[in-house]
Amino acid sequence: MRRIERFAFVIDHFLRTAPEAETELFYGTPYELMVAVVLSAQCTDKRVNLTTPALFQRFPDVFALAQGSEEEIFKLIRSISYPNNKTKHLMGLARVLIDEFGGEVPSEINDLVKIPGVGRKTANVIASVIFNKPAMAVDTHVFRVSARLGLTVKAKTPLETEKQLVKYLPEMLISRAHHWLILHGRYVCVARKPKCAACELQSVCAYFQKQQPKNVALTLLDV
Ligand code: SF4
Repeated sequence: MRRIERFAFVIDHFLRTAPEAETELFYGTPYELMVAVVLSAQCTDKRVNLTTPALFQRFPDVFALAQGSEEEIFKLIRSISYPNNKTKHLMGLARVLIDEFGGEVPSEINDLVKIPGVGRKTANVIASVIFNKPAMAVDTHVFRVSARLGLTVKAKTPLETEKQLVKYLPEMLISRAHHWLILHGRYVCVARKPKCAACELQSVCAYFQKQQPKNVALTLLDV
């Protein structure tokens, strides 16, 4: 199957089954999304969503956050992975947003990556979710699912995955495709044991096709 046909099948599937896919992080403002995405590194969205209500109540905007002490911020995010580093990131993030961007979250990727705790993935999430830009954020789910499906070929880094996906996806669907691949990776194409039997993408999935002899054997055993 040609890659362009594989993309067409996958896009058609998700447009039908998840037309409104979006981030599962709770947020109300660009500042809140930035903080939530920074906290979500190596941590589940569920855990972040349990933590951010109290954090945002205490620090409703970047100016309030900039006044917060290290101890107080740490206490509010201690149940999240790497709380020490993330406390420092939040403090640095507040300082840079105020000093360099007037307290506003910038829309350009080149500006976003200057902010402490904001790497390319976080910058792309903010650019696409808040500013509706055609930016593909590649996290572990996007990286794995794209490779298994065969949407990417021999991509060794998130940046290579990003470039290959952006090349084949229609611009207007890039930010939605990010959520499609994340949600598929979170609930169906999970890391250890992908739920191929429940997956409607089997017929175009490179990984599934490679496993075919094994899958046939398993089916015969079931009978
Ligand atoms: S068929 Fe299996 S490996 Fe392929 S996308 Fe679906 S769950 Fe993932």
